[in-house]
Amino acid sequence: MTANPADTLAPLSRDFDQFSSVHYDVIVIGGGIQGSCLLYEAAKRGLRCLLVERGDFGGATSWNSMRILHGGFRYLQSMDLPRLVDSVRERRWFMRMFPGLVEPLQCLMPLYGQGLKRPGAFKAALRINRELTKLEGRLPGEAKLPPGHVITPSDVAQDWPQVPTVGLRGGGIWYDARMLSPERFIVHLLRVAQSMGCASLNYCSADAIETVEGSVVGVRCKDVVSEKEYIFHAPIVLNAAGPWCREICSGVAVDRPELFTPMRAFNLVLDRAPLSESAIAVSAQGAESQTYFLVPYGERTIAGTAQIPCDADDHTEVPAQQEVEQFLNQINEAAPGLDVSPVDVTCVWNGQVSACYAGADVASDKPVVIDHTEYGGPTGLISVSGVKYTTARRLAQRVVGLLPGPPVAPLEDVRCDERISDIPGYGEQTLGADIADLMQRIVENEAVVSADDLILRRTGLWQDPASVLENWDVIANAMSLAGDEALQQRESAEELFNRLREPWNTHGAGN
Ligand SMILES: Cc1cc2nc3c(=O)[nH]c(=O)nc-3n(C[C@H](O)[C@H](O)[C@H](O)COP(=O)(O)OP(=O)(O)OC[C@H]3O[C@@H](n4cnc5c(N)ncnc54)[C@H](O)[C@@H]3O)c2cc1C
Repeated sequence: MTANPADTLAPLSRDFDQFSSVHYDVIVIGGGIQGSCLLYEAAKRGLRCLLVERGDFGGATSWNSMRILHGGFRYLQSMDLPRLVDSVRERRWFMRMFPGLVEPLQCLMPLYGQGLKRPGAFKAALRINRELTKLEGRLPGEAKLPPGHVITPSDVAQDWPQVPTVGLRGGGIWYDARMLSPERFIVHLLRVAQSMGCASLNYCSADAIETVEGSVVGVRCKDVVSEKEYIFHAPIVLNAAGPWCREICSGVAVDRPELFTPMRAFNLVLDRAPLSESAIAVSAQGAESQTYFLVPYGERTIAGTAQIPCDADDHTEVPAQQEVEQFLNQINEAAPGLDVSPVDVTCVWNGQVSACYAGADVASDKPVVIDHTEYGGPTGLISVSGVKYTTARRLAQRVVGLLPGPPVAPLEDVRCDERISDIPGYGEQTLGADIADLMQRIVENEAVVSADDLILRRTGLWQDPASVLENWDVIANAMSLAGDEALQQRESAEELFNRLREPWNTHGAGN
């Protein structure tokens, strides 16, 4: 199948009564990228599936990623070649699936002479990377990402004028890809699955896994909007609840701590012009110092990723104000000329990732899949805990391949033909009366429950709060809001914008 205009895909609807009358093959819990890929891959194999998400689709960790499709160049440091190959393949898959919503990202690492940070070592790494990237599965006619090269100190200074030059021996350039609108990826995957006979429900919390005689028979859920309870039936439940995946199993299976060991992570979107056209790797002087990335984001700069160790039972996703301030000090030290302060933070992307071990500040690189039957849990309950947005589809394929039944050749991928310039809030598509029809179509087709969903997770409007508040009538009309309800949702949007800037003052971004 080739490109599909979004409007030819089935709409997402919140038809709890209809969906609860169906007997499914599989229920997926969690509508982040992992759950969405599971639903999509299962749908492509002809399985009848339902996905339930307690907040809005893609509203938790997946909304907060740094939006980089990692080709895994840095895995050369640990010589984890299988992971590198998986990553380049998955990066290629996203580029093929969402050609109008992914773009190449040039990255620059100044080389000061340790480890991979020596020009010779970097060149050797690029050679290996070039060979392994040949395994990415690029199809005829698909553009290659440039292979990367090593540049001289004066070229580095041209690219990044404020680069610290003491000891600078050159710069390594390599290429990755970035997601311009990951929220659209999730909507697309869910709508394709819906078009194949599956269903997805947002604002539907999975409250208990129902079992009979040691086997899964379904999930008891609540419509968070109406507070009505429903039981959805299926013999298999795929638990893809991200940082909450261990909670889902409590009551029916013994806890498996290896599923998720909490660690906080965040990125800052800064109201600062990029220091360079490249995403630059910066680290303060000193062998032990962390490397961070400063990534150009239009007129702004993304800085991250800060990783904060947590206790094993600390499930706070939101960084403390002090943690953000400390991180700003670190990047000011690492990137002379940046000179940022808390007032420059326009958005904090924060969430939890699984750490290598309790209390570590290093993220795990190993996805975990647990079939709870093997640990005395019910038959049919499988938990899936991924480590990267980039490799979520690969993990989903692996898990769907484990499901009982004869192997089935999957249907072909259904590509997304949206372009970033079509999405309100990104590029030139600003909010105004001229896009009223488009906004209405999004509301009608994409299970928009609140204005927050529309602003944050269907469009890029969250990037320009002033325009949203000035043109509130366009949002209100699209959502058929009037009177007090329109006012209330406007107030809620104002709170949302504050929360994006200072999540520690409230209960976090996203859901
Ligand atoms: C700051 C940060 C930066 C990152 N940057 C990158 C990057 O640049 N590139 C990359 O590849 N990866 C990145 N990652 C990692 C990536 O974002 C995650 O691996 C990925 O988003 C996890 O997806 P998920 O679906 O497993 O989890 P989530 O997105 O958290 O989804 C789990 C969902 O389950 C739902 N849920 C929980 N309990 C229930 C329930 N009872 N009933 C129904 N639903 C429930 C939640 O509401 C949530 O939406 C980053 C992560 C962080 C935190």
